[in-house]
Order: sequence, then structure tokens, then C-alpha cells
Amino acid sequence: MEVKGKIAVITGGASGIGAALARRFHAEGAKAIAVADVQAEPLAAVAESIGALAVSCDVSRESDVQRLVQRVEDELGPIDIFCSNAGIARLGEENAPNEEWQLNFDIHVMAHVYAVRAVAPKMAARGSGYLIHTASAAGLLSHIQSATYAVSKHAAVAFAEWVSIKYRDQGVHVSVLAPQAVRTPMTDRPDGASVASVDGMIEPEQLADCVIETMAAERFLMLPHPVVHDYMVGKATDVDRWLEGMNRWRRKAGAPAR
Ligand code: NAD
Repeated sequence: MEVKGKIAVITGGASGIGAALARRFHAEGAKAIAVADVQAEPLAAVAESIGALAVSCDVSRESDVQRLVQRVEDELGPIDIFCSNAGIARLGEENAPNEEWQLNFDIHVMAHVYAVRAVAPKMAARGSGYLIHTASAAGLLSHIQSATYAVSKHAAVAFAEWVSIKYRDQGVHVSVLAPQAVRTPMTDRPDGASVASVDGMIEPEQLADCVIETMAAERFLMLPHPVVHDYMVGKATDVDRWLEGMNRWRRKAGAPAR
């Protein structure tokens, strides 16, 4: 699918990857763009810079996602592209509080479910649509320092696969965006996904190139770091060897051996 002439929604649009996607979609000639986030001020700034609609939305609440979709449909028109991208990165092992596990699942899994419920049947009825679910390379491989992140992102990938299976004969394309480290406020923080930068940090604009190319080819996996594909093959070929390597890396990174 080409972005030119399309109506696109991007959650987590106030910052980092979401803001870069919004700018790139604008440069590609999108007909209209809506950016949604919980951070009001940076959201307004991104929206203003590209003439987008800014919608305050907490993606972990279904009523907010429904309101977002309704407002975009009312003010801009039917949604062609929905990028479910908002996310958080926090360290958390098995003993992380239940609330922390729940928050990760609400933002990284249920937000995608709410978006698909709200837009996919309408896309299918029109015979056209594109859903981009931002997961992470951690959702295909793992994150040696965060079980809450790795597990919820795996669930995000599993859901995107399922949606793709359900809707692919109805003109609805699904892609899962699975980068390693990208230079954004998320990777700036001390508890950010720093281990993801082992293969280097890319700029959000480079990631946007990959998104545009993958959309044009309508492929499922958006891998801005191509080496992730090699790691996936390695994991599928010999999972015990892969686990051994990940354990060695965790010990080297100095993570507590609990
Ligand atoms: P970021 O922190 O710059 O942006 C994330 C945005 O999501 C923020 O604007 C934040 O306010 C918003 N957000 C968080 N919770 C929200 C909620 N409940 N409702 C609405 N908005 C909410 O981070 P980023 O790097 O741009 O991350 C974007 C996505 O990419 C996330 O899903 C993240 O997990 C994923 N990702 C990032 C990297 C990386 O290295 N930066 C790597 C892999 C995956």
C-alpha cells in the first residue's frame, strides 16, 4: 500500500517512532493524519508541524480508542492506515508487581485488540486497510532484562499474526514493526531498552524508510535491523543453543542471576 492519499492514525504520535512516522506519512502525501497520545503538549507540537489532528487518548482504555476512531472518522473520514504504536519500556522480572505486568499487557496487547475491534471490520467491509502494530525485536526474540516487556511484546506479535490470518483475504494488511534500538526518548532513559542497542542504534527516520518499503511490499515483518531475521532463523534452528547464548549475554550484561 502507498501512503499517498490515505487517512492514517498513529498512536504514541507525540514522540520518537510515532512522531517520525507521522512526519514521514505527511512527506509521502497522506491525505490526512491523526496523532494520538497521552502527552498533550508534545502531541500538539507534532500535530501542528504537519497539520495533523491531535487526539488525547490513553490506548490502554478501550473507550479512549473508540473515541479516537470515531473522531477521526467524523472529522477526517474512513481510516486507511492504523499504526498502533504507543508503548512503554520498563525493566521487570518475574517478581515485578502484578500491576506492572497488567500495565504492559494493557498497553502492548489490549491496545492493539481495541484498535483492531474498532477499525478492522470496517476496513474489511471496504476491502482495504493497513494495520501496523509496533512490537519489538524483543517480541520475536527476547529482552534479557525485562520479562514484562519481552512477554507482552511476544503477545503483540502473536495477536498481529492472528489478525493477519483472519483478514488477509479481505484486503486488510497487517505488519508487525519489530526494531532493535532506535534513538528516541525511550532509549534515552536509564531504564530504557539499552541492551537492544547491542547491534547499534538507528534513527527513527531510518525506521520510517523500512516502514514505507515494507508497506509497499505488503510484507508482515517490518525489520529495520535486518540482523533480527538471522537471529530468528538461529532461534528456530536450534532453540537450546539460542537460549544458551542469551543466558551468556545476560550474565555478561551484569543482570542479577535470579
Ligand atoms: P517514546 O517513549 O519516544 O514514545 C512512546 C509514546 O507512547 C510516548 O509519546 C508516550 O507518551 C506514548 N504512550 C505511552 N503509553 C501510552 C498510552 N497508554 N496511551 C497513549 N500513548 C501512550 O518511545 P518510542 O521509542 O517511540 O516507542 C514507540 C514504540 O516502539 C513502542 O511501542 C516501543 O515499545 C517500540 N519500540 C521502541 C524501540 C526503541 O529502541 N526506541 C525498540 C523496539 C520497539
